[in-house]
Amino acid sequence: MGNDFHFACFFAAFVISVTCMVFTFTSKRTDKFQNKLYICMLIIVVLNSFSGMMIAIGEPMLSNVRSAMPVVLASQYSYFLLHNALCPVFFLYVSVVSGLAYKQSHLQRVLSSVPFFITEIMVFLNPYLKCIFYYDSNYEFTRSKAEICIYIVAALYFLMSILLLWFSWKAINARRRFAIVYFFVIVVGGVVIQFLDKNIKGELFAEALALMGLMLAVEMEDDLVDVNTGFYNRKALRMDVNNYIVNKTNVDLVCLKVSNAEIIQKVTGSANVDLLAEIVSDYLKSIVSRFHIYQTNPETFVLVLLDRKKLNGDTVADLLADRFNRPWGFRGMDILLNAVIMTVKLPDELTNTVDLFYMVDSVVPNKNETTVLYGKDLAHILRRGEMENAIARGLDENGFEVYYQPTFYLNGLKLHGAEALVRLNDPIMGRLFPDEFIPIAEQIGMIDMIDDFVLRQVCEFLKSGIPAQYGMENINVNLSVLQCLKPGFVEHICSIVDEYDVDKSTINFEITESIAASDYDRLSYVVSDLKKHGFCFAMDDYGTGYSNMQSIFSLDFDIVKIDKSLLWGAEETELGRIILGNSIKMIDQMGRRILVEGVETKEQLDMLKELSVDYLQGYYFSKPVPKNEFIEYIKQGKE
Ligand code: C2E
Ligand code: CA
Ligand code: CA
Repeated sequence: MGNDFHFACFFAAFVISVTCMVFTFTSKRTDKFQNKLYICMLIIVVLNSFSGMMIAIGEPMLSNVRSAMPVVLASQYSYFLLHNALCPVFFLYVSVVSGLAYKQSHLQRVLSSVPFFITEIMVFLNPYLKCIFYYDSNYEFTRSKAEICIYIVAALYFLMSILLLWFSWKAINARRRFAIVYFFVIVVGGVVIQFLDKNIKGELFAEALALMGLMLAVEMEDDLVDVNTGFYNRKALRMDVNNYIVNKTNVDLVCLKVSNAEIIQKVTGSANVDLLAEIVSDYLKSIVSRFHIYQTNPETFVLVLLDRKKLNGDTVADLLADRFNRPWGFRGMDILLNAVIMTVKLPDELTNTVDLFYMVDSVVPNKNETTVLYGKDLAHILRRGEMENAIARGLDENGFEVYYQPTFYLNGLKLHGAEALVRLNDPIMGRLFPDEFIPIAEQIGMIDMIDDFVLRQVCEFLKSGIPAQYGMENINVNLSVLQCLKPGFVEHICSIVDEYDVDKSTINFEITESIAASDYDRLSYVVSDLKKHGFCFAMDDYGTGYSNMQSIFSLDFDIVKIDKSLLWGAEETELGRIILGNSIKMIDQMGRRILVEGVETKEQLDMLKELSVDYLQGYYFSKPVPKNEFIEYIKQGKE
């Protein structure tokens, strides 16, 4: 094999690396630090393969053409000088891609460049020391012993890159991992082949191929950038933030949510949702570079601040808040936008990407003003996220449990029935109360499953015969109003109860008054339909809502449950007493039975005895307790 083959190897490397370069520049992937390092590696391979071709042409002419020597020597030196830089640059590239570069101290950076400078100094001294190579008297290229140092240094950088990869394995997505491992394998393969057979110039060819692999998998970020707005997308945010979290990098995130984005569509008459990005993009780019801006939803942007000392999240939040207090000029119009701005510090205040997306996707009400939320305020948003998980877990793993709280006749304080109240026992969050998880379950559409579970448990309990045995008339089951309005609701409820074959009149459904049902006609239809099937009905929490009295009392309830706040208010003021007394009188005149909730003391009980109330419920008698405890309780009452 002769120089022709050498030339072919170098030419192939040259063509591949130039092609990668052309692609990289035409697709404008040049502005990130990572891109710059990549281009740097490409330039090295392009120039090296060019030197290689010159050497392959020049060497056979050395004995005949005098002027060939300087050209060949210049090519050799350029080859060594540049090639020595390839592994260090690759090491830097891996540290940027893995995110560890942001964590390196200045000293670490200086230290890691020392071996590189040693090899460069060796090349510079080669004309005098001939420590790397020389041309012997027969114009033969001869390698010196010390050349091995260059290989050792290259191997050292490779090893350091492998270590980096090892430590940041979890921070890199599968595609990037694959590309970097591919790079290792191909390059090492090329070096080994060339080492075994000096005639096969495999090294550069392998490097060019490996760089092409990197381009296809790491540098091409088409799937990470929004084609319309040019900002990074959700996927990119997830990948990068995961990287920061795993590497425990100190960065601040600022999440900007425009709460009245629909105004843009109204003002411009355009249905294009990207207009918001168009309006704010220049301003955002004036704060941080484009590579640190992500657009996760049409109205949500996240800015990543890598250098807290230079610019921190709170400062940026204030800047943004200030800017959003002034109108935005767009197509000759002034548009005033409201925003909710949230800042968090990584890794302390945000420990996983799931929470990140709860923050990013949380629904913010339009408060007609711009608000800033700092990390600590986010706790409730993040808790909400955990709560959603807990609800799903509870449904999967039997975490829900029904508690019972007894109700009594005022007359003789005899047991009347019980209210079924759901609890959630979560392995992570502990025991959770319905006040917190029911509204969330309603929003995420899981309330129907919870209510079904409670109804089934109650049916099972009724079917056991125990409630009847102790003289209980019925068990109260809470219903979510939104549920009741769904088509097929009545059939669904009936099918569950029929499964257990229990008497429908022993189930008393409660619907809360405070939820303003917009569709009273439909609700009224559902209530009377369920009653036709034999169920009883109670209006819950009377006195907490501001619903239309006429509408609410047009519903066919058997019982009205007066909320504890009315009872407690009556103890405190004269006005409270008038309200409670007259509410009871009014409901009594309408011919509904009355239950008062929240009876905690003997005094309250005595006060109620003066009024025409039918039933009582409260901690004075018992808190809600698990089924077995409840059975014990009613057994004792009987004795
Ligand atoms: P609610 O229907 O008004 O239930 C009564 C709440 O008042 C219960 O809280 C009960 O523990 C509490 N309570 C009873 N007596 C007293 C008292 O003397 N003093 C005080 N301070 N509190 C008393 P809980 O169990 O936390 O339930 C809260 C709410 O969650 C319920 O209010 C109900 O709206 C909802 N909920 C509970 N279980 C279910 C369910 O299975 N399905 C649906 N859709 N909602 C439920
Ligand atoms: Ca209730
Ligand atoms: Ca209630």
